[in-house]
Amino acid sequence: MRRISILGATGSIGQNTIDLIARAPQEYRVVALTGAGNIAQLADDACRLGAEIAVTAHDDRLEELRTALSGSGVDAAAGAQAIVEAAQRPADWVMSAIVGVAGLAPGLAALRDGATLALANKESLVCAGSLMRDTARTRGATLLPVDSEHSAIFQALTGENIADVERIVITASGGAFRDWPVEDLHKATLELASSHPNWDMGQRITIDSASLFNKAMEVIETREYFGIEPERIEVLVHPESLVHALVGFADGALMAHVGPPDMRHAIGYALHWPERRALPVERLDLARIGSLTFRAPDERRWPALRLAREVMAAGGLSGAVFNAAKETALDGFIDGRIGFTKMAEVVERVLDRICAQPGHIDATMTLDNVAHIDHLARQEAGTVIQKIAG
Ligand code: NDP
Ligand code: MG
Repeated sequence: MRRISILGATGSIGQNTIDLIARAPQEYRVVALTGAGNIAQLADDACRLGAEIAVTAHDDRLEELRTALSGSGVDAAAGAQAIVEAAQRPADWVMSAIVGVAGLAPGLAALRDGATLALANKESLVCAGSLMRDTARTRGATLLPVDSEHSAIFQALTGENIADVERIVITASGGAFRDWPVEDLHKATLELASSHPNWDMGQRITIDSASLFNKAMEVIETREYFGIEPERIEVLVHPESLVHALVGFADGALMAHVGPPDMRHAIGYALHWPERRALPVERLDLARIGSLTFRAPDERRWPALRLAREVMAAGGLSGAVFNAAKETALDGFIDGRIGFTKMAEVVERVLDRICAQPGHIDATMTLDNVAHIDHLARQEAGTVIQKIAG
Protein backbone atom coordinates (compact mmCIF):
# COMPACT_ATOMS: atom_id res chain seq x y z
CA MET A 1 0.00 0.00 0.00
CA ARG A 2 1.28 3.46 -0.85
CA ARG A 3 1.48 5.92 2.01
CA ILE A 4 -0.11 9.23 1.02
CA SER A 5 -0.29 12.66 2.66
CA ILE A 6 -2.29 15.63 1.38
CA LEU A 7 -1.25 19.13 2.42
CA GLY A 8 -4.17 21.47 1.77
CA ALA A 9 -6.63 18.55 1.71
CA THR A 10 -9.71 20.75 2.19
CA GLY A 11 -9.04 22.94 -0.86
CA SER A 12 -9.93 22.54 -4.50
CA ILE A 13 -6.82 20.52 -5.43
CA GLY A 14 -6.95 18.61 -2.13
CA GLN A 15 -10.56 17.56 -2.69
CA ASN A 16 -9.84 16.46 -6.26
CA THR A 17 -6.93 14.38 -4.94
CA ILE A 18 -9.18 12.78 -2.33
CA ASP A 19 -11.75 12.05 -5.04
CA LEU A 20 -9.11 9.99 -6.89
CA ILE A 21 -7.70 8.07 -3.94
CA ALA A 22 -11.16 7.38 -2.48
CA ARG A 23 -11.94 5.42 -5.68
CA ALA A 24 -9.24 2.85 -4.83
CA PRO A 25 -8.99 2.86 -1.00
CA GLN A 26 -7.34 -0.57 -0.96
CA GLU A 27 -4.26 0.91 -2.68
CA TYR A 28 -3.52 3.74 -0.28
CA ARG A 29 -2.81 4.29 3.38
CA VAL A 30 -3.49 7.91 4.29
CA VAL A 31 -0.87 9.31 6.65
CA ALA A 32 -1.66 13.03 7.11
CA LEU A 33 -4.37 15.40 5.93
CA THR A 34 -3.98 19.13 6.57
CA GLY A 35 -6.32 22.09 6.26
CA ALA A 36 -6.94 25.46 7.84
CA GLY A 37 -10.44 26.86 8.46
CA ASN A 38 -12.62 24.07 7.13
CA ILE A 39 -12.52 21.81 10.19
CA ALA A 40 -15.70 19.88 9.34
CA GLN A 41 -14.35 18.80 5.92
CA LEU A 42 -10.93 17.97 7.34
CA ALA A 43 -12.37 15.80 10.11
CA ASP A 44 -14.88 14.14 7.81
CA ASP A 45 -12.23 13.16 5.22
CA ALA A 46 -9.72 12.07 7.89
CA CYS A 47 -12.31 9.72 9.43
CA ARG A 48 -13.58 8.43 6.11
CA LEU A 49 -10.06 7.71 4.80
CA GLY A 50 -8.70 6.47 8.15
CA ALA A 51 -5.84 9.00 8.27
CA GLU A 52 -3.19 8.76 10.99
CA ILE A 53 -3.39 12.49 11.73
CA ALA A 54 -5.38 15.58 10.75
CA VAL A 55 -3.83 19.01 11.21
CA THR A 56 -5.34 22.48 11.02
CA ALA A 57 -3.14 25.53 10.46
CA HIS A 58 -5.11 27.45 13.09
CA ASP A 59 -3.85 26.91 16.68
CA ASP A 60 -7.12 28.15 18.13
CA ARG A 61 -9.19 25.51 16.29
CA LEU A 62 -7.46 22.48 17.87
CA GLU A 63 -10.23 21.71 20.38
CA GLU A 64 -12.85 21.90 17.64
CA LEU A 65 -10.83 19.47 15.52
CA ARG A 66 -10.31 17.11 18.47
CA THR A 67 -14.04 17.08 19.17
CA ALA A 68 -14.86 16.40 15.52
CA LEU A 69 -12.40 13.48 15.51
CA SER A 70 -13.30 12.00 18.87
CA GLY A 71 -13.65 8.23 18.86
CA SER A 72 -12.23 7.91 15.35
CA GLY A 73 -8.64 7.04 16.31
CA VAL A 74 -7.35 9.89 14.12
CA ASP A 75 -4.82 12.14 15.92
CA ALA A 76 -5.32 15.91 15.87
CA ALA A 77 -2.77 18.72 15.81
CA ALA A 78 -2.70 22.44 15.02
CA GLY A 79 -0.35 25.20 13.92
CA ALA A 80 2.14 25.85 11.14
CA GLN A 81 4.86 23.78 12.83
CA ALA A 82 2.47 20.83 13.26
CA ILE A 83 1.82 20.93 9.50
CA VAL A 84 5.57 20.77 8.84
CA GLU A 85 5.86 17.82 11.24
CA ALA A 86 2.94 16.06 9.54
CA ALA A 87 4.61 16.60 6.15
CA GLN A 88 7.74 14.95 7.53
CA ARG A 89 5.96 11.76 8.53
CA PRO A 90 7.23 8.95 6.29
CA ALA A 91 5.11 8.84 3.13
CA ASP A 92 5.67 7.66 -0.45
CA TRP A 93 3.66 10.43 -2.13
CA VAL A 94 2.74 13.84 -0.80
CA MET A 95 0.40 16.34 -2.46
CA SER A 96 1.51 19.95 -1.88
CA ALA A 97 -1.74 21.91 -2.28
CA ILE A 98 -1.70 24.58 0.40
CA VAL A 99 -2.38 27.99 -1.12
CA GLY A 100 0.32 30.67 -0.90
CA VAL A 101 3.84 30.77 0.49
CA ALA A 102 2.51 28.90 3.57
CA GLY A 103 2.98 25.79 1.40
CA LEU A 104 6.74 26.21 1.06
CA ALA A 105 8.02 24.91 4.43
CA PRO A 106 5.73 21.82 4.50
CA GLY A 107 6.64 20.94 0.90
CA LEU A 108 10.35 21.24 1.69
CA ALA A 109 9.87 19.08 4.77
CA ALA A 110 8.33 16.33 2.63
CA LEU A 111 11.22 16.56 0.15
CA ARG A 112 13.73 16.33 2.99
CA ASP A 113 12.09 13.07 3.96
CA GLY A 114 12.67 11.78 0.40
CA ALA A 115 9.00 11.60 -0.61
CA THR A 116 7.67 12.08 -4.12
CA LEU A 117 6.18 15.57 -3.93
CA ALA A 118 3.32 16.32 -6.31
CA LEU A 119 3.55 20.08 -6.49
CA ALA A 120 0.42 22.15 -7.03
CA ASN A 121 1.75 24.94 -4.79
CA LYS A 122 3.48 27.00 -7.51
CA GLU A 123 4.44 29.61 -4.92
CA SER A 124 7.16 27.20 -3.68
CA LEU A 125 8.93 27.28 -7.03
CA VAL A 126 8.41 31.01 -7.59
CA CYS A 127 9.79 31.91 -4.15
CA ALA A 128 12.46 29.25 -3.71
CA GLY A 129 12.95 27.25 -6.91
CA SER A 130 16.62 26.39 -6.41
CA LEU A 131 16.03 25.45 -2.77
CA MET A 132 13.24 23.05 -3.79
CA ARG A 133 15.31 21.52 -6.60
CA ASP A 134 18.48 21.19 -4.52
CA THR A 135 16.59 19.62 -1.63
CA ALA A 136 14.94 17.12 -3.96
CA ARG A 137 18.31 16.23 -5.51
CA THR A 138 20.28 15.85 -2.28
CA ARG A 139 17.51 13.88 -0.55
CA GLY A 140 16.78 11.59 -3.47
CA ALA A 141 13.22 12.94 -3.61
CA THR A 142 11.11 13.41 -6.75
CA LEU A 143 9.33 16.63 -7.63
CA LEU A 144 6.37 16.19 -10.00
CA PRO A 145 4.37 19.06 -11.50
CA VAL A 146 0.61 19.27 -10.90
CA ASP A 147 -0.16 22.68 -12.38
CA SER A 148 -1.96 21.67 -15.60
CA GLU A 149 0.42 23.54 -17.93
CA HIS A 150 3.51 22.07 -16.27
CA SER A 151 2.08 18.57 -16.17
CA ALA A 152 1.37 19.02 -19.90
CA ILE A 153 4.96 20.13 -20.61
CA PHE A 154 6.32 17.30 -18.48
CA GLN A 155 4.24 14.80 -20.47
CA ALA A 156 5.26 16.31 -23.83
CA LEU A 157 8.92 16.02 -22.79
CA THR A 158 8.73 12.33 -21.91
CA GLY A 159 11.32 10.51 -23.99
CA GLU A 160 12.70 13.80 -25.37
CA ASN A 161 15.99 15.56 -24.81
CA ILE A 162 15.58 18.98 -23.14
CA ALA A 163 18.52 20.23 -25.26
CA ASP A 164 16.28 19.85 -28.33
CA VAL A 165 13.63 22.18 -26.93
CA GLU A 166 13.43 25.50 -28.74
CA ARG A 167 10.50 26.99 -26.88
CA ILE A 168 7.75 26.25 -24.41
CA VAL A 169 4.31 27.80 -24.87
CA ILE A 170 1.89 27.91 -21.95
CA THR A 171 -1.71 28.82 -22.60
CA ALA A 172 -3.94 31.19 -20.63
CA SER A 173 -7.73 31.36 -20.83
CA GLY A 174 -7.47 35.12 -20.35
CA GLY A 175 -9.73 34.86 -17.29
CA ALA A 176 -12.95 36.64 -16.53
CA PHE A 177 -12.10 39.95 -18.24
CA ARG A 178 -10.30 38.89 -21.40
CA ASP A 179 -12.85 40.61 -23.66
CA TRP A 180 -13.36 43.75 -21.61
CA PRO A 181 -12.04 47.05 -22.99
CA VAL A 182 -8.78 47.86 -21.17
CA GLU A 183 -10.26 51.21 -20.01
CA ASP A 184 -13.01 49.35 -18.11
CA LEU A 185 -10.76 46.94 -16.20
CA HIS A 186 -10.57 49.20 -13.15
CA LYS A 187 -14.31 48.55 -12.68
CA ALA A 188 -13.81 44.77 -12.31
CA THR A 189 -15.57 43.57 -9.14
CA LEU A 190 -14.55 40.85 -6.69
CA GLU A 191 -17.61 38.80 -7.59
CA LEU A 192 -16.82 38.80 -11.32
CA ALA A 193 -13.09 38.20 -10.76
CA SER A 194 -13.91 35.19 -8.57
CA SER A 195 -15.63 33.29 -11.34
CA HIS A 196 -13.53 31.54 -13.99
CA PRO A 197 -14.93 30.87 -17.48
CA ASN A 198 -13.55 27.29 -17.66
CA TRP A 199 -11.89 26.04 -14.47
CA ASP A 200 -13.40 25.44 -11.03
CA MET A 201 -10.62 26.44 -8.58
CA GLY A 202 -9.99 28.15 -5.24
CA GLN A 203 -10.89 31.85 -5.06
CA ARG A 204 -7.32 33.20 -4.92
CA ILE A 205 -6.06 31.40 -8.05
CA THR A 206 -9.30 32.30 -9.84
CA ILE A 207 -8.70 36.02 -9.26
CA ASP A 208 -5.04 35.55 -10.22
CA SER A 209 -6.28 34.02 -13.48
CA ALA A 210 -8.32 37.15 -14.24
CA SER A 211 -5.31 39.45 -13.62
CA LEU A 212 -2.95 36.94 -15.29
CA PHE A 213 -0.81 36.97 -12.14
CA ASN A 214 -1.42 33.22 -12.18
CA LYS A 215 0.13 33.01 -15.66
CA ALA A 216 3.00 35.27 -14.58
CA MET A 217 3.67 32.86 -11.69
CA GLU A 218 3.50 29.96 -14.14
CA VAL A 219 6.05 31.51 -16.49
CA ILE A 220 8.48 31.69 -13.55
CA GLU A 221 7.44 28.17 -12.51
CA THR A 222 8.28 26.94 -16.05
CA ARG A 223 11.72 28.51 -15.84
CA GLU A 224 12.34 27.00 -12.40
CA TYR A 225 10.97 23.55 -13.14
CA PHE A 226 12.42 22.94 -16.60
CA GLY A 227 15.52 25.21 -16.42
CA ILE A 228 14.69 26.84 -19.76
CA GLU A 229 15.79 30.42 -20.56
CA PRO A 230 13.08 33.08 -20.04
CA GLU A 231 13.16 34.20 -23.70
CA ARG A 232 12.14 30.69 -24.76
CA ILE A 233 8.94 30.77 -22.68
CA GLU A 234 5.84 32.16 -24.39
CA VAL A 235 2.28 32.80 -23.25
CA LEU A 236 -0.62 32.28 -25.65
CA VAL A 237 -4.23 33.23 -24.95
CA HIS A 238 -6.48 30.25 -25.62
CA PRO A 239 -10.05 30.91 -24.44
CA GLU A 240 -11.21 27.26 -24.64
CA SER A 241 -8.60 26.00 -22.08
CA LEU A 242 -8.25 22.66 -23.87
CA VAL A 243 -4.63 22.93 -25.08
CA HIS A 244 -2.71 23.33 -21.83
CA ALA A 245 0.83 23.78 -23.15
CA LEU A 246 2.98 23.17 -26.23
CA VAL A 247 6.63 22.24 -26.52
CA GLY A 248 8.49 23.37 -29.64
CA PHE A 249 11.49 21.32 -30.75
CA ALA A 250 14.56 22.15 -32.86
CA ASP A 251 13.04 20.46 -35.92
CA GLY A 252 10.00 22.75 -35.84
CA ALA A 253 7.62 20.20 -34.33
CA LEU A 254 5.15 21.46 -31.72
CA MET A 255 3.87 18.84 -29.27
CA ALA A 256 0.59 20.02 -27.76
CA HIS A 257 -1.14 18.56 -24.73
CA VAL A 258 -4.91 18.58 -25.18
CA GLY A 259 -7.38 17.61 -22.47
CA PRO A 260 -10.48 18.69 -20.57
CA PRO A 261 -10.14 21.47 -17.96
CA ASP A 262 -10.25 19.02 -15.06
CA MET A 263 -7.40 19.03 -12.53
CA ARG A 264 -7.94 15.33 -11.83
CA HIS A 265 -5.99 14.64 -15.02
CA ALA A 266 -2.78 16.35 -13.84
CA ILE A 267 -3.24 15.09 -10.27
CA GLY A 268 -3.88 11.53 -11.49
CA TYR A 269 -0.88 11.67 -13.81
CA ALA A 270 1.35 12.65 -10.87
CA LEU A 271 -0.29 10.02 -8.65
CA HIS A 272 0.34 7.13 -11.03
CA TRP A 273 3.55 8.36 -12.70
CA PRO A 274 5.47 6.85 -14.43
CA GLU A 275 2.45 4.72 -15.37
CA ARG A 276 -0.75 5.96 -16.98
CA ARG A 277 -4.02 4.72 -15.52
CA ALA A 278 -7.63 5.28 -16.50
CA LEU A 279 -8.96 8.49 -14.95
CA PRO A 280 -12.55 9.66 -14.45
CA VAL A 281 -12.24 12.68 -16.74
CA GLU A 282 -14.23 13.63 -19.82
CA ARG A 283 -12.97 12.28 -23.18
CA LEU A 284 -12.90 15.21 -25.58
CA ASP A 285 -14.96 15.03 -28.73
CA LEU A 286 -12.94 17.32 -31.00
CA ALA A 287 -15.38 17.03 -33.89
CA ARG A 288 -18.10 18.43 -31.62
CA ILE A 289 -15.80 21.14 -30.26
CA GLY A 290 -14.97 22.07 -33.85
CA SER A 291 -12.38 24.79 -33.42
CA LEU A 292 -9.71 25.96 -31.03
CA THR A 293 -8.66 29.60 -31.01
CA PHE A 294 -5.46 31.37 -30.00
CA ARG A 295 -4.32 34.97 -29.72
CA ALA A 296 -1.29 36.87 -28.48
CA PRO A 297 -1.52 38.31 -24.96
CA ASP A 298 -1.79 42.08 -24.64
CA GLU A 299 0.72 43.20 -21.97
CA ARG A 300 -1.08 46.53 -21.59
CA ARG A 301 -4.11 44.62 -20.37
CA TRP A 302 -2.03 42.25 -18.26
CA PRO A 303 1.09 43.97 -16.83
CA ALA A 304 1.70 40.91 -14.62
CA LEU A 305 3.36 39.19 -17.60
CA ARG A 306 5.91 41.99 -17.98
CA LEU A 307 6.59 41.89 -14.23
CA ALA A 308 7.32 38.14 -14.44
CA ARG A 309 9.99 38.86 -17.08
CA GLU A 310 11.54 41.48 -14.80
CA VAL A 311 11.59 39.00 -11.94
CA MET A 312 13.33 36.34 -14.04
CA ALA A 313 15.93 38.92 -15.16
CA ALA A 314 16.56 40.03 -11.55
CA GLY A 315 16.82 36.44 -10.24
CA GLY A 316 17.81 35.63 -6.63
CA LEU A 317 15.04 36.20 -4.13
CA SER A 318 13.04 38.50 -6.41
CA GLY A 319 10.46 35.75 -6.95
CA ALA A 320 9.73 35.76 -3.20
CA VAL A 321 9.27 39.55 -3.32
CA PHE A 322 6.96 39.22 -6.33
CA ASN A 323 4.85 36.53 -4.67
CA ALA A 324 4.57 38.30 -1.30
CA ALA A 325 3.61 41.59 -2.96
CA LYS A 326 1.09 39.76 -5.14
CA GLU A 327 -0.44 37.90 -2.17
CA THR A 328 -0.75 41.15 -0.19
CA ALA A 329 -2.20 43.05 -3.16
CA LEU A 330 -4.69 40.22 -3.64
CA ASP A 331 -5.73 40.49 0.03
CA GLY A 332 -6.18 44.23 -0.59
CA PHE A 333 -8.46 43.56 -3.57
CA ILE A 334 -10.45 40.88 -1.71
CA ASP A 335 -10.91 43.23 1.29
CA GLY A 336 -12.06 46.02 -1.02
CA ARG A 337 -9.13 48.34 -0.16
CA ILE A 338 -7.81 48.55 -3.74
CA GLY A 339 -9.27 48.10 -7.19
CA PHE A 340 -8.48 45.28 -9.61
CA THR A 341 -5.91 47.14 -11.73
CA LYS A 342 -4.13 48.49 -8.65
CA MET A 343 -2.81 45.01 -7.80
CA ALA A 344 -0.18 45.18 -10.55
CA GLU A 345 0.74 48.71 -9.51
CA VAL A 346 1.36 47.55 -5.93
CA VAL A 347 3.52 44.63 -7.07
CA GLU A 348 5.56 46.81 -9.43
CA ARG A 349 6.24 49.43 -6.77
CA VAL A 350 7.30 46.83 -4.20
CA LEU A 351 9.58 45.07 -6.70
CA ASP A 352 11.19 48.38 -7.74
CA ARG A 353 11.83 49.36 -4.17
CA ILE A 354 13.10 46.10 -2.68
CA CYS A 355 15.10 44.85 -5.68
CA ALA A 356 16.92 48.20 -5.89
CA GLN A 357 18.21 47.90 -2.32
CA PRO A 358 21.61 46.19 -2.35
CA GLY A 359 21.89 42.85 -0.62
CA HIS A 360 18.19 42.00 -0.40
CA ILE A 361 17.52 39.76 -3.35
CA ASP A 362 21.15 38.55 -3.54
CA ALA A 363 20.99 36.85 -0.12
CA THR A 364 21.49 33.06 -0.13
CA MET A 365 18.31 31.14 -0.83
CA THR A 366 17.46 29.61 2.56
CA LEU A 367 14.04 29.19 4.14
CA ASP A 368 14.91 31.90 6.69
CA ASN A 369 16.00 34.39 4.03
CA VAL A 370 12.88 33.71 1.96
CA ALA A 371 10.74 34.26 5.10
CA HIS A 372 12.63 37.49 5.85
CA ILE A 373 12.24 39.00 2.39
CA ASP A 374 8.62 37.80 2.24
CA HIS A 375 7.99 39.77 5.45
CA LEU A 376 9.72 42.89 4.08
CA ALA A 377 7.76 42.74 0.83
CA ARG A 378 4.44 42.35 2.68
CA GLN A 379 5.24 45.37 4.85
CA GLU A 380 6.17 47.42 1.81
CA ALA A 381 3.05 46.29 -0.06
CA GLY A 382 0.94 47.24 2.99
CA THR A 383 2.42 50.74 2.90
CA VAL A 384 1.79 51.10 -0.84
CA ILE A 385 -1.81 49.86 -0.44
CA GLN A 386 -2.42 52.35 2.37
CA LYS A 387 -1.18 55.19 0.17
CA ILE A 388 -3.36 54.09 -2.75
CA ALA A 389 -6.43 53.49 -0.56
CA GLY A 390 -5.93 56.66 1.52
P1 NDP B 1 -7.91 26.48 -2.10
O1 NDP B 1 -8.04 27.87 -1.59
O2 NDP B 1 -9.10 25.81 -2.66
O3 NDP B 1 -7.32 25.54 -0.93
C1 NDP B 1 -6.21 25.93 -0.19
C2 NDP B 1 -5.86 24.90 0.87
O4 NDP B 1 -4.83 25.45 1.71
C3 NDP B 1 -7.03 24.56 1.79
O5 NDP B 1 -6.85 23.24 2.25
C4 NDP B 1 -6.84 25.55 2.93
O6 NDP B 1 -7.49 25.15 4.12
C5 NDP B 1 -5.33 25.51 3.07
N1 NDP B 1 -4.75 26.70 3.67
C6 NDP B 1 -5.13 27.99 3.50
N2 NDP B 1 -4.32 28.81 4.19
C7 NDP B 1 -3.41 28.02 4.83
C8 NDP B 1 -2.32 28.27 5.70
N3 NDP B 1 -1.98 29.51 6.07
N4 NDP B 1 -1.60 27.23 6.15
C9 NDP B 1 -1.92 25.97 5.79
N5 NDP B 1 -2.95 25.66 4.98
C10 NDP B 1 -3.68 26.68 4.49
O7 NDP B 1 -6.72 26.51 -3.14
P2 NDP B 1 -6.51 25.62 -4.46
O8 NDP B 1 -6.74 24.18 -4.14
O9 NDP B 1 -7.22 26.26 -5.58
O10 NDP B 1 -4.96 25.84 -4.73
C11 NDP B 1 -3.95 25.21 -3.95
C12 NDP B 1 -2.60 25.43 -4.61
O11 NDP B 1 -2.63 24.77 -5.88
C13 NDP B 1 -2.28 26.90 -4.92
O12 NDP B 1 -0.91 27.08 -4.82
C14 NDP B 1 -2.73 27.08 -6.37
O13 NDP B 1 -2.03 28.09 -7.03
C15 NDP B 1 -2.36 25.70 -6.93
N6 NDP B 1 -3.13 25.31 -8.10
C16 NDP B 1 -4.49 25.17 -8.03
C17 NDP B 1 -5.22 24.79 -9.14
C18 NDP B 1 -6.69 24.56 -9.03
O14 NDP B 1 -7.28 24.06 -9.99
N7 NDP B 1 -7.35 24.86 -7.94
C19 NDP B 1 -4.57 24.57 -10.44
C20 NDP B 1 -3.13 24.70 -10.42
C21 NDP B 1 -2.44 25.05 -9.28
P3 NDP B 1 -9.07 25.51 4.44
O15 NDP B 1 -9.80 25.42 3.14
O16 NDP B 1 -9.44 24.44 5.41
O17 NDP B 1 -9.10 26.89 5.02
MG1 MG C 1 -2.12 26.36 -14.23
